[in-house]
Amino acid sequence: MKAEIITIGDELLLGQTVDTNSVFISKVLTPLGFNIHYKQAISDSKQAIIESLDLSIKRSKLIIITGGLGPTKDDITKHTLAEYFHSDWRWDKDVLKHLESIFSDRGRELLDINKQQAMLPALCETLFNRKGTAPGMLFDIQGVWVASLPGVPYEVVEIMEHSLIPKLKSEFNIKPIINRTLTTALIPESKIAQKLEAFEESIKNRFSLAYLPSYNIVKIRLNALNSTITQNEFDQKWEKLIHELGDWVVDTTDSPISEQWAKILIEKDFQISTAESCTGGYIGNQLVSVSGASTYFQGSVVSYANQIKSNVLNVDADLIQKYGAVSKEVAVAMVNGVSQVMNTSVAIATTGIAGPTGGTEEKPVGTIWIAVKINDHISVKQYKLRGTRIEFMLRAFNTAFVQFKNLLQHSK
Ligand code: AMP
Ligand code: MG
Repeated sequence: MKAEIITIGDELLLGQTVDTNSVFISKVLTPLGFNIHYKQAISDSKQAIIESLDLSIKRSKLIIITGGLGPTKDDITKHTLAEYFHSDWRWDKDVLKHLESIFSDRGRELLDINKQQAMLPALCETLFNRKGTAPGMLFDIQGVWVASLPGVPYEVVEIMEHSLIPKLKSEFNIKPIINRTLTTALIPESKIAQKLEAFEESIKNRFSLAYLPSYNIVKIRLNALNSTITQNEFDQKWEKLIHELGDWVVDTTDSPISEQWAKILIEKDFQISTAESCTGGYIGNQLVSVSGASTYFQGSVVSYANQIKSNVLNVDADLIQKYGAVSKEVAVAMVNGVSQVMNTSVAIATTGIAGPTGGTEEKPVGTIWIAVKINDHISVKQYKLRGTRIEFMLRAFNTAFVQFKNLLQHSK
């Protein structure tokens, strides 16, 4: 069933806010069998809203709009929709009660401008918003559903999950089109495509592959092309894909690398610590970003300066003098130092040149040594990573994970 998303807000077009709402909505609607075939990002203007609705209503059964529902003058979605659908107005008593209770909880006076949020187009059904003051609205225009939600991302999640999705499920009985995504790492997408050439040819009328590269990781999605493809047929192709890719697969899901890493650490009952120079604590930060990190994460030393490497991690100053801070020897000394200081079974160390300055002919920008220690086994490797400082860190994190996984496999 064809669906589309319209995100409203000048901030989206000015590059001030990243549109995460449409990403979330696509993610939850696709498995339900909706085919999101268009997305439009538009300004807070009546003309833009009308023009995009004119287009959408002709070609989609479900249109989800976010943004422009605040109480201030710049938010005009509600009035534009009421006018567009020739609707009168009604007071929603439940929304008014909810507003009164929110404002009294916050100790704030409910102003007229806030009360107005309980005034809704008579034609719409209310999509109740427990997390905020702007209710969502659902219009049924001769079988085309138009849902208007606030812009605040967590309110979108709330209304989608508790209000709109249950209604969609009961109204539209759609058979989802199956797809699944896996994660590969450190292999360029062109090399993967070459390896999968024959496989891709063999599936071409019933399935397709999508390649999603980002920072030394390539995610690969296998898509069934229509809803007649059964789970059984899909699973056979999925197994074949995994077999074709062999060791290049780091995980048969597309969950974030931080979560994949956490899963292994918990399974193996490992404690981890990091000693980070060029990554400035990024690896530790990513490991801590997963809920439940206290079961495996001990701590990080951000040893950016040489004195910290020596004073905190006991890296021999002569070693730094002799080989330089960005060297195999120092990476190994750092990983040994931090695993001892933190008393962990697993440790990661990074030392490199994130750039854009500081490179030399011998050690150009992007050079990094990563050392991984699991019990008494150490692996130390040099890489050349591309990109800005932040991209360098993202790549370093993903790369360190793969090195950890490989060492784990080989130290069994
Ligand atoms: P609004 O409902 O238009 O008042 O939006 C409230 C806030 O939600 C805005 O200030 C943005 O920070 C945020 N927001 C709006 N649209 C989006 C979007 N598509 N993705 C992420 N955040 C958004
Ligand atoms: Mg807005």
